[in-house]
Amino acid sequence: MTTPQKVEEITLGVDSELRFEIESKENVILELKSGFAELYGTELAKGKQYEFHQGAKVAIFTFHGCVLQMKGKPDVSYVAKETPMVQYLNTHTALEQLRTNAEEKSTRGPIVMIVGPQDVGKSTLCRLLLNYAVRMGRRPIYVDIDVGQGSISCPGTIGALLVERPATIEEGFSQQAPLVYNFGHVSPGDNNKLYQILVSKLAEVSLERLETNKKGKSSGMIINTCGWVKSDGYRHLLHAAEAFEVCAIFVLDQERLYNELLRDMPRFVQVVYLPKSGGVVERPKQLRMESRDNRIREYFYGLRSPLYPHSFDIKWCDVQIYKIGAPALPDSCMPLGMKTEDNMTKLVTIQPSVALLHHILAVLAEGSLDDIIRTNVLGFICVTNVDNERQTLTVLSPQPRPLPNTILLLSEIQFMDSH
Ligand code: ATP
Repeated sequence: MTTPQKVEEITLGVDSELRFEIESKENVILELKSGFAELYGTELAKGKQYEFHQGAKVAIFTFHGCVLQMKGKPDVSYVAKETPMVQYLNTHTALEQLRTNAEEKSTRGPIVMIVGPQDVGKSTLCRLLLNYAVRMGRRPIYVDIDVGQGSISCPGTIGALLVERPATIEEGFSQQAPLVYNFGHVSPGDNNKLYQILVSKLAEVSLERLETNKKGKSSGMIINTCGWVKSDGYRHLLHAAEAFEVCAIFVLDQERLYNELLRDMPRFVQVVYLPKSGGVVERPKQLRMESRDNRIREYFYGLRSPLYPHSFDIKWCDVQIYKIGAPALPDSCMPLGMKTEDNMTKLVTIQPSVALLHHILAVLAEGSLDDIIRTNVLGFICVTNVDNERQTLTVLSPQPRPLPNTILLLSEIQFMDSH
């Protein structure tokens, strides 16, 4: 006999937030009974049941007050009255004014970057600002250059997405037709040179796309960044700000970073300090690794609506596999005129072997062989078996065979398919 789920009715006052976390296997079902409430900018529908699962970290906020019904017992649950939501809403209002001006003058809407150390709510603020923008009828571009988590595609990539609808409560933004580049590592520091090249390319293509559609142009872009904000990490932020031609940077929670950006940014870039929400949950290294793994599983198998990936063999001779970046050599060992840095963008041919097992391979879009580095990807496959005798790879793929392109890029990221 199963024990009946605990049912609780929670009344939230004006400008307050219900926060809960689920660590155990227990699911929590939430329903809005009366009033208005939202999850990171997505409105809850009255009378609809929303299910949250293990790993969920949720904040249901209300500007007007509401009554919620909660079935199940999260591991942590409390109501917070102190939140930065009014400041975030003011930020949105300021962006809306810029969009209206841009619309009237047929110019470009605001291109803004959200920066800050790890776990300060950068991705959440992006989601909130994008949701508020689409709810006002805008069509902003969401850019994610945080290779660690990959909110647009698999971890180890950077990408851009035209946002046409608010994120759904359970699954986030619809990820149809994103523009994605494969970096292949979880930290920009693993290949700083390649990271900069990819950010420049993503910026160039995203800015071009912004110009193709009047509504999109005045809506602008929201750019999510890595939590690495020191030394080379900081230089990457400066480079991204220049490449994307940002007009404003929102700095979450770190005065040092705020002051450094005030000092280093040209005058036409507004640098604004915003507080972090007390609800943002810190994720230790292990949890980050798990969430990366979940992200890849979601790519192949779906989240709530299940996907059914295909598994098939490909002959070694039918594909060309490359990796970007040769092992670092001291400058003294490099050919005359070459620097170690050049090595980091070198295209290296990979001979298939058991070393490919569990690795993610990016399937490149058609492009010139000379510019593989700057070619976007169509999707990803995962190597689930290597047969030396038959000289084949077994791969997990979202699409049936044949692969849309036979040029594949090796990613350092691995995924153990336990299905
Ligand atoms: P990273 O450094 O990994 O990029 P981040 O700064 O982008 O992290 P988020 O991913 O936005 O941070 O937030 C970290 C976690 O905190 C997420 O699981 C998010 O759902 C949760 N979170 C954000 N805001 C709140 C809130 N107000 N209440 C409860 N949980 C929250």
